[in-house]
Order: sequence, then structure tokens, then C-alpha cells
Amino acid sequence: MHKTVLITGASRGIGRAAALRFAKAGWRVGAGYCASEAEAHTLIAELAGLGAMAAAVRGDVADAEGAARMVRETRSALGHIDVLINNAGIAHTALFTDTDYAAWRRLFAVNVDGAYHCAEAVLPDMISRQSGVILNVSSIWGLVGASCEVGYSASKAALIGFTKALAKELGPSGIRVNCVAPGVIDTDMNAALDPVARAALADETPLCRLGTPEEVAEVLFFLASDAASFMTGQVISPNGGIVI
Ligand code: NAD
Repeated sequence: MHKTVLITGASRGIGRAAALRFAKAGWRVGAGYCASEAEAHTLIAELAGLGAMAAAVRGDVADAEGAARMVRETRSALGHIDVLINNAGIAHTALFTDTDYAAWRRLFAVNVDGAYHCAEAVLPDMISRQSGVILNVSSIWGLVGASCEVGYSASKAALIGFTKALAKELGPSGIRVNCVAPGVIDTDMNAALDPVARAALADETPLCRLGTPEEVAEVLFFLASDAASFMTGQVISPNGGIVI
């Protein structure tokens, strides 16, 4: 029996690596994207090359209707959604005193409201089937806070609280909710880091390097699978030891 995962922000980075990981294991993949249509379609071709059924589904997660449409389109193309991965996210680097309210609101709209809208759209069906998994992608900065990323850190901490409370509420309905809080991962989100900053981050990491999107995808795949059937409400942090 094929299972279906909907991954938001799947056109690149961690979301893309997760789409490939699930497809390689025979899952059907709804690949959510916001604006990167060409990249999303390239990904779908790659997933098809792996023999996976996949659909590119467009929507801004910050918009309730956009999130609901992604869920509807995934279901009509691939069947019911077994796993939702709230991966779409944005960062904002600035001193708190230089972070205006619009930037703060946008961080919360995408990183927190986005998870709310997608969970709201998938849950009625998961509850009626008494089965499902929701994975939220937070960050180590949601655990320990980052200077010059106060809004980002606060939004990622909110996802941890969201995960724990939702896990308690949905456990009796057979739905598991977990969180992945990656360390510094080599994706476009960190493309603006200069070589000195990258080297300093690698230096601070006991494993002496940045992580790869594939290493995060592996943790997401584990948490989605039946191998994690007794895990809910947990925060797992693939981070090379930078936060212990
Ligand atoms: P990325 O910038 O490559 O990917 C983010 C994805 O989210 C993109 O595909 C983007 O199009 C999508 N997205 C952004 N706004 C959206 C919106 N409003 N609606 C729908 N999609 C939207 O970065 P990434 O590193 O792959 O990040 C994936 C997740 O991992 C994010 O939630 C990020 O905060 C988190 N994370 C990243 C790192 C890191 O070091 N790269 C560390 C910890 C956590």
C-alpha cells in the first residue's frame, strides 16, 4: 500500500531532499511550492524518474486558501495524505532593533501560521481515519535563540510548542506530531553567509562541518515511518553537535 506525503517548500533545500528520500522508498509525494514553478516541475520529473507518483502543488502557506488548495490538489492527484511535513520557512537576519513589525509579522505568517493552515487542512481527514503524522521543521535557534535572528528564533520556538501541544491533543486520535530542529544546513537559506562566517559555524560544530539537506531528510523519513511508531511530541535535532 502506497503512502502519501505532502511536503511544503519542496522545490529546493531540505524539502527537495525529503521529497527524493520519500520517493526512493516508494512513497507518493505532493511537492508544495510557492513561486518556484520551474524548480518544482524539475523535481517532479526527477521523482517520476525514480518511479514515484508525484504532483507539484502550488500555494503560499501563509494564506489559508493557498494551504487548503495544496492539500486538496494533493488528495485529488495522489489520494489521502498520510504525512504532512511543514517545512516551508523563511529567515530574517537583522538586529532586533532593526526588525520592523512587517518583517516580524511575515516570519510568523510563513513559519507559524503556515504550519497552522496546513495542519488545519489535513487534520479532519486524519482524525476521521484515526491515523496520520505531522512533522514540523523548527531550528536549533528555536531551542537556544540566535542573536540577530530574534523573530526567526521566536517563530521556530513557537513551532516546538505547537508540536508538543498538538501531540498531546492528537495522540488519542492515532496521530503523531514531531519536530525536527536542524543545525546549520548547507542550503540556499545560508547562501548569503560569507566564507568566514561559514568556516566559523563549521568550527563551532563538533563534527566540524555544516549539515546536508539529505541528513535532515533522513530524520524526517524516520519520524514519518512506522519505525518511529512510539514517538510523538519529540524534538529531534540533527545538528552535528552544535547544540547538545
Ligand atoms: P530554503 O530557503 O532552501 O527552502 C525554504 C523553502 O520554503 C523554499 O522552497 C521556499 O520556496 C519555501 N517557502 C518560503 N516561503 C513560503 C511560503 N510562504 N509558502 C510556501 N513555501 C514557501 O531553505 P531550507 O534550508 O531548505 O529550509 C527548509 C526549512 O528548514 C525552513 O523551515 C528553515 O527555517 C528550516 N531550517 C533550515 C536550516 C538551515 O540551516 N538551512 C536550519 C534549521 C532549520
